Amino acid sequence: MSRTSQLFELQQVDTESDERLRRALSINHALGETESLRAARAAREAAAAALGEAQKALRAASHEVETLSEHLATQSKRLYDGTVKNPKELVAIEHDIVQTKQVRSAREDTLLEAMEAVDARQAEFDAADRALALGETEWERSQEGLLEEKDAVDTQLKALRVRREKLIPGIDWADLQLYERLRKAKHGVAVAAMANDICQACRVTIPGGTARSARQGHTFVTCPSCGRLLHPGERGEMVR
Ligand SMILES: [Zn+2]
Repeated sequence: MSRTSQLFELQQVDTESDERLRRALSINHALGETESLRAARAAREAAAAALGEAQKALRAASHEVETLSEHLATQSKRLYDGTVKNPKELVAIEHDIVQTKQVRSAREDTLLEAMEAVDARQAEFDAADRALALGETEWERSQEGLLEEKDAVDTQLKALRVRREKLIPGIDWADLQLYERLRKAKHGVAVAAMANDICQACRVTIPGGTARSARQGHTFVTCPSCGRLLHPGERGEMVR
């Protein structure tokens, strides 16, 4: 195997590892609560609080109407059961009954509005509750899938590490240094495949003489455009 081929093989292992690592990172990022699930939970909490407030208002309105009705009953009884004899006082009671009835009528309107508000808040809460339940089901399913994929990616990374460890002893130390330096400088790609005399990393056509030298594989040939080592892609592999 030529020195370029050795580095090219190493490059493929590293490129694949880079991809798997990126995927592992995004899986880690996606594990745990998602933004939409948090939003659904917050929406349900807000709907529950609004429902609670509406129910409280309904209880208060209902209590007020009840109190006014009790007062009316007491006053009506006093008016007709003969316990009050004083005409002035009887007039005052009559007046109070008229006034209380007016107030109660207004409070009954409030009570109706409060009932309608409770119905509306209840419907909103039910919708938010259903949305959260649906979101949680979807989330659990996605978490399961992600965990399975994470296991698979970890296994692939382990296999790639083993492959790399097997390759390293066969590569000349200076070549390895060159490779690492280029990889760092060239966004992870030190060795580019050359297919149809085109550098697959930067897509530039390699001049005839340079392309010929690269195909012979006796020495390291670099792409005149991007500076990466060129490997004739006779195996059809592409370095992305
Ligand atoms: Zn290039």
